[in-house]
Amino acid sequence: MMVDKHIGNSSWNLINIFNDVKKSFPEVNAELKSFDKQSFMLSSPYSKYIFYNEEQLKKYKFSRTALRGVIAHELSHKISYKRMNPLTRLFVMILYQFHSFKKRLEQEADTITVQRGFGNELKILNKESKQKFDKERYSRLESVRLSAEEIDKLMRKKRQK
Ligand SMILES: [Zn+2]
Repeated sequence: MMVDKHIGNSSWNLINIFNDVKKSFPEVNAELKSFDKQSFMLSSPYSKYIFYNEEQLKKYKFSRTALRGVIAHELSHKISYKRMNPLTRLFVMILYQFHSFKKRLEQEADTITVQRGFGNELKILNKESKQKFDKERYSRLESVRLSAEEIDKLMRKKRQK
């Protein structure tokens, strides 16, 4: 049995998890890169990079399962960017300031995440985020993401296929 230890403080671990999750996204060309912005992780619409903040990685100490969920979500953004028309993609960071656009984009990434088989990981990520983030940060996140019920519904749909 594999024990899901809280790892937290190493980028090396993150890279290993990343390489493993990436196998489920063979069409995506992506690479991890650290940055110092406030986001925990961010998928660039303009390059192959998925940025992560090392300080936040150490601070929040997400479990391995939750990290698989967040990486799958960021890789799903890459698929979503590919589907976008080029003009929308060009302005995506500006459009992202609008709540309705942000919600559509985040829920699309969550949907792809479930379709690629990371529904449970996504649910655990949400659960841990609720425990670890302060109330304001969590409610901002919650307002644009799929709920546990919506994830369950998508998982059932996937199983029926
Ligand atoms: Zn996202």
